[in-house]
Amino acid sequence: MAKSSNLGFPRLGIKREWKKASERYWSGRIDLEELIATADELTSRHWKLQMEAGIDIIPCNDFAFYDLMLDTVVLLGAVPERYGIGADAEIDIDTHFAMARGRQDETADVTAMEMTKWFDTNYHYIVPELTRGMNFRLASQHPFSAVERARRTGVENPRPVLIGPATFLLLGKVLDEGLMRAELLDAVVDVYIEVLGKFAAMGVEWVQVDEPALVLDLDEEGVELFRRAYERIAGTAQRPKVMIATYFGGLEDNLGLALGLGAEGLHLDLVRAPRQLDEVIARAGETLVLSLGVIDGRNIWRADLDRTSAILRLAANGLGGSQRIEVAPSCSLLHCPIDLEYETSLAPEIREWLAFGVQKLEEVAALAKTLDGDAGFVQQFVSSRVALGRRHSSTRVTKPEVQKRLAKLDKKMTRRESRYEKRIEAQRKKLNLPQFPTTTIGSFPQTREIRKLRVALRKGELTREQYEKAIEEQTLKTIRFQEANGIDLLVHGEFERNDMVEYFGEQLEGYLFTKFGWVQSYGSRGVKPPIIFGDILRTGPMTVRWSKFAKENTGHPMKGMLTGPVTMLQWSFVRDDQPRKVTCQQLALAIRDEVIDLEAAGIDVIQIDEPAMREGLPLRRKDWPEYLDWAVRCFRITSSGVRDETQIHSHMCYSEFNDMMESIAAMDADVISIEASRSRMELLDSFEEFVYPNDIGPGVWDIHSPRVPSKEEIVELLHKAMKHVPRERLWVNPDCGLKTRDWPEVEASLKNMVAAAKQVREEFKD
Ligand code: GLN
Ligand code: ZN
Repeated sequence: MAKSSNLGFPRLGIKREWKKASERYWSGRIDLEELIATADELTSRHWKLQMEAGIDIIPCNDFAFYDLMLDTVVLLGAVPERYGIGADAEIDIDTHFAMARGRQDETADVTAMEMTKWFDTNYHYIVPELTRGMNFRLASQHPFSAVERARRTGVENPRPVLIGPATFLLLGKVLDEGLMRAELLDAVVDVYIEVLGKFAAMGVEWVQVDEPALVLDLDEEGVELFRRAYERIAGTAQRPKVMIATYFGGLEDNLGLALGLGAEGLHLDLVRAPRQLDEVIARAGETLVLSLGVIDGRNIWRADLDRTSAILRLAANGLGGSQRIEVAPSCSLLHCPIDLEYETSLAPEIREWLAFGVQKLEEVAALAKTLDGDAGFVQQFVSSRVALGRRHSSTRVTKPEVQKRLAKLDKKMTRRESRYEKRIEAQRKKLNLPQFPTTTIGSFPQTREIRKLRVALRKGELTREQYEKAIEEQTLKTIRFQEANGIDLLVHGEFERNDMVEYFGEQLEGYLFTKFGWVQSYGSRGVKPPIIFGDILRTGPMTVRWSKFAKENTGHPMKGMLTGPVTMLQWSFVRDDQPRKVTCQQLALAIRDEVIDLEAAGIDVIQIDEPAMREGLPLRRKDWPEYLDWAVRCFRITSSGVRDETQIHSHMCYSEFNDMMESIAAMDADVISIEASRSRMELLDSFEEFVYPNDIGPGVWDIHSPRVPSKEEIVELLHKAMKHVPRERLWVNPDCGLKTRDWPEVEASLKNMVAAAKQVREEFKD
C-alpha cells in the first residue's frame, strides 16, 4: 500500500500566533512558560490538521523556535564561543534567541549569527559557524520530546525531521582559514548516531533526514562529506530507517551518490525535477522506498490530480507495486500558506484554482489512496478537473491584448537608441549634476505616522483626498529636506507605498492578494506574497501622479521610482501555467509603459529597482545563463522605451553581486546603485576581472544598521571605489532605501554623505 506523507508544516500559525508570541517573549511581555505553551498549542493543532487531511506519515521536530538550522546548531551543541555557553551547560532559550538576534542588555553585548537565504526560497536560515576544534555534543532533548508530544496528540508514527550532517556542514560558514569541513565531520556524525540510537530506543520507525545539498553542484569535498557521513550512519545497527529528503531541484549528477548512501528511503522533488523519476526507478533496486514529491510545496495552485495520478501509476508499475511509494509534497510546506479556508473574500471563481498547505495535504492523501484503488476520492478528482478546466479557459487569465503584444516583442524593444557613451553625454548636459553626484535609493522613513494614515484610509476615517493631501505634505517635507541638505538628484520618498511589490501589484490586472497567505521569511517574520494568476495588464499610470507632483515642487532633477519585473516576479507566487519567463515579460511590458509615461510627464531620471535579480539564479550553475538571459532581457524591455537623454537607473541589494557583474552590465542601465558598504566595497574586487562599463554608485552607508557613518569613513570608501571606477562615473549613495530608518539618523548620515562628496569634489577639482 502506498502511503501519504508530509515533509514539514508551516510554523507561524494561521493568525501568525508564533510571531506574536515570540515577539512578546522578546519584549518581556510573556514568560517562557507561555511561549512554550503557544508552541505546544500550535504543533498539536498542526498535527491534528495533518491527521484530518488523511496523512499517514506525519513529521515532528519540524517546528523550530526560530529556524531549523539554528535548532541543528543547538542539537549539536555547536554554539559559538561568544555566547559563553560552557562545554556541558544547557543551552537555554535566551542563548538560543541570542544566536538568532544578538543580545544587547546589562549582561551582554553579542552579535547575532549570520542569516542567509535557504536555497532559492525567500526563507532565511541561521548560518552555522564552523571553527577548528569546535566541540560537538548532543545538547538538546527537543527532537525526542517532539516525538513524545506528537504521539500524545494522537499521531501514531511520527517521523522526526533532522537536517542532515552533510547539508549542515556544507551550508555552514568556515571561519578559520584553511579549515576543511571534513575535519569536523566525525564529531558531527557521532552526535547524529547518538540521536538515531535514542530514536530507535523510543521505537521510532523512520526519520526524515533533509539533505537538500544533494541538488547542488557538489565539489569533491562535498561528495566526500556525504560518503563518509552515511557510511557510518548506514552502518549503525541501532537506528530507525532513514528517509533522505532532497528538494528544490533534481539529483542529476548526484543521483549515484544519493542512491549509494545506504538509506532506506529517498525523497524526490518531482515538481522541480519531474524527469528524474524514470532513472531513479530504474536504479532504485529492490528495497528502496521512494517518496514522490508530486504536489508543489512552493506554490499555491491546485494540482492536476489526473495527471499526477497517472505519473504515480507509472511509478508503481516500474516499482512492481505501490508498497514502496510515498506520495508527498515536493518539499516542506513551510514555503506555502497554511489554509485556504480562511480566504473568505477571494472571488470564488479564482479561489477554486488554489490550494494552500492543508488543501495540498488533502490532495496528497487522495492521490495515495487512489493509487491503491480506493474509489472514495472520485469527487475530489472531478472537482479538480472542473476547476482546472475553468482556470484554463477563464477570461480573467488570458487577455488577448497582452498576448498580442507579447507576440510582437522584438529586438528593438530591448535596445536603447544609442550606446551608453552617447546617452550619458546627453544626460549630463541635460541634468547638469556635479561630479560625484549624490542621490538616495528612493524611500525615506516610513514612520508610524505614515502607516497610521494608511490604516485610517482603509478604515474610512480619512477620505482618499485627505490621505493624498497628507502624503503630499510628507513628500514636500522630504523634498525640502533633500534640498536643504544638498542632495543633487532628488526622490519623492515613496510615502504612498506600503510595499514595493504590493503597490504595483494592486494596480495591475492579473494580480491577487490574500488575507492570511503568510509565509515565514525568517524567525518571527512573515511575508504575504501576492499571487499572479493571469496575464498582466496595466490599466493606467501607477506612479506618475506622485513623481509629477514632486517634480513640480522643486527646481532640482527628480528621480522616478519603479519596481522591476524580475523583482515583481521573484516576490510573488507565480502562475504555473506558463514559463516564468513569459510572466516576467508581461510584467516588463507593463512597467515599460509606466517608464514611458513618466518620461512624458517630464521626469528625466527613472530608477527601476531590481533587488531580487540575484535571488532568481538557479541552484545549478549550468542553468544560470538561461535565467540571466531572460532576466536581463526583461529589464531591458522596461528600460528601452525612452530617449537618450532620459537617464535610467537601477538598484540592487540583499546579495553579493561579484559573480554576475557581466549580466548587470548587460542590463545597460545608465547608472546602477548597488549594496557594497557592509563588505567594505569587496564588490569592486570583481572589477579586477571585469570592469563595469557604465555609471555606478556602490553604497557608502549601511542602512541596515542604525549606525551613522562618518564623513571620513565615506571619503575612504569613495577613494577605494575610485581605484576601480573612473571618477566621472562614480555616484555617491546609500546601500538601499531609507524606509526602515529614523529621521535623525537619516539626517546625520546624509549630511556626512554630502560632506564626503564635497570633499572628494574638492580633491579632484579639474
Ligand atoms: N526604491 C526602493 C526603496 O528605496 C528600493 C528598495 C529595495 O531595494 N529593496 O525602498
Ligand atoms: Zn535595496
